[in-house]
Amino acid sequence: MVIAIVGGGLGGLALARLLHMNDIDAVVYERESSRDARGQGGMLDLHAGTGQRALREAGLIDRFHAIARPEGQDLRLLEPDGTLLLQEDTPEDAPSLRPEVDRADLRNLLLDSLPEHVVRWGHAFEHADDGLLHFTDGTTATYDLLVGADGADSRVRPLLTDARPAHTGQNAVELGIPDVDRTHPDLAAMVGRGNYWVLGDGQSLSAQRNGDGRVRVYLSFYNTAEDWFATSGIPSDDPAGARARLIDLFTGWSSQAIALIAACDDMVVPRSITTLPVGLTWPSTTGVTLLGDAAHLMPPVGQGANMALLDGVLLGLALAAHPDDFPAAVKEYEREMFDRTSAAGRQSARIQEILTSPDASQKMLAFFQPG
Ligand SMILES: Cc1cc2nc3c(=O)[nH]c(=O)nc-3n(C[C@H](O)[C@H](O)[C@H](O)COP(=O)(O)OP(=O)(O)OC[C@H]3O[C@@H](n4cnc5c(N)ncnc54)[C@H](O)[C@@H]3O)c2cc1C
Repeated sequence: MVIAIVGGGLGGLALARLLHMNDIDAVVYERESSRDARGQGGMLDLHAGTGQRALREAGLIDRFHAIARPEGQDLRLLEPDGTLLLQEDTPEDAPSLRPEVDRADLRNLLLDSLPEHVVRWGHAFEHADDGLLHFTDGTTATYDLLVGADGADSRVRPLLTDARPAHTGQNAVELGIPDVDRTHPDLAAMVGRGNYWVLGDGQSLSAQRNGDGRVRVYLSFYNTAEDWFATSGIPSDDPAGARARLIDLFTGWSSQAIALIAACDDMVVPRSITTLPVGLTWPSTTGVTLLGDAAHLMPPVGQGANMALLDGVLLGLALAAHPDDFPAAVKEYEREMFDRTSAAGRQSARIQEILTSPDASQKMLAFFQPG
């Protein structure tokens, strides 16, 4: 029996790891040409009950703690005028409830836990028919079970559901300050060891210290149209012009917030934020299933990677428990996954609603300090 996993992101690799641990053959088809082909993005906080649980099941929790940054949980929440609303510094001896980890380090941890031949790089899935996978370069491969772990714009998803991601009204621009301690020590101290969050009316700025000395800056614009980037006046091919326009769009914000944008380098990545309907399900179908963002794309407020890791691990455990009955294993996995990820999707939607509201900073303060 051949298990084909399309997508070598966190979810697909977690599944491959569990199958490898249980001597079940699987192949991961990944469209990128190598593990270093694309920057993997910023930090992720892994929660004790989901992402960390998945790594424990995968036998990787000790190696995770070696690369995790507990101090990355630090949080500063501010008003656009610079008023500090909340500062939480993680004590040295605090339990690692939500330690941060560089996404690339986490993906490498999973990749290094697999024999090299498991991941076939440079294989972009196009479609499947009659037990055959077709790749964009014209090659094919056979499979008995196809697992779509191919993220937000999954090409496997249409085999199970007509649902498509819809725009949330949020458009974001990702920027960054490399080697911040050396180049901008004042801004490094201001951001601190973790997250620096400024929430305004319809806009937000979040800066995040990464393990590689970079501060990643996300500028978000809420209640905006899907074609906002085309109409925003942010030039796509002129980083200096883009920074100038973004500073313009943050007129009236504190000088510290503006200084963060001005200090960014030439990496300017637009991100249009889409989600699948909360509580999406499909009738269980022999031979194919989904995990991670392909199954339940949520707003990026801290659940998606955690869910993807746990999906991969729980599907792997179900397949190991029913090695002669993959349809039963898939059904068991989907039943639990639908319940768990619906709850996470509802919670993510609530946080997204707070971020979108006019008094986002006060509501977020109440969220962090209930009662
Ligand atoms: C800005 C931002 C910040 C986020 N922050 C957090 C956070 O702090 N905490 C958190 O839990 N989540 C966060 N998320 C969400 C998280 O990134 C995703 O939920 C998670 O990466 C999903 O994992 P995945 O394995 O399902 O998909 P992905 O990580 O997207 O991996 C999919 C893989 O499939 C490959 N692929 C795609 N199409 C094909 C194809 N046709 N053929 C072959 N391969 C293909 C891709 O190259 C990729 O390697 C954030 C998301 C964004 C956008």
